[in-house]
Amino acid sequence: MFTHGSAKTPVREAVLHCAAIKTGQFKGMRAFQVFATINQWHIKRGFKHGFGYHGLFMPDGDFAWGRPYSMVGAHTLGRNTGTLGFLMIESREITHIGEFSDWFTEDQREAVKYCLSKIPGLQKVSGHNDHAARLCPGFKVKSSDWL
Ligand SMILES: [Zn+2]
Repeated sequence: MFTHGSAKTPVREAVLHCAAIKTGQFKGMRAFQVFATINQWHIKRGFKHGFGYHGLFMPDGDFAWGRPYSMVGAHTLGRNTGTLGFLMIESREITHIGEFSDWFTEDQREAVKYCLSKIPGLQKVSGHNDHAARLCPGFKVKSSDWL
């Protein structure tokens, strides 16, 4: 199991996110290019360590690593210690809480599930909207759909 910080808080939960982008904003880009773009956004927002997520998934399932799992992320205010944050790039602008398939692809679902299956000790998968009044990631996340 991974832990966070000197208190060795166990990492047992993953939090899913979307990018809050316009339709087509990252179209045709590979995951590493989107990583580079969002890394710049996060540096400009003052995140000391840049890119705040632990991984990024494109609509075609292409993946890029973010922060190491042993490093606290910057993705869910007040809940970063003990969680991992994963960013899914939506295929079109998210306007309401809908279904996964309204915004994301089955290739993405498979890539995320594969990634989550490799994290030892993971017990729960939630959405950003479980922790804050947000649309992110655009649907209600059920742990049992992901683990
Ligand atoms: Zn989010």
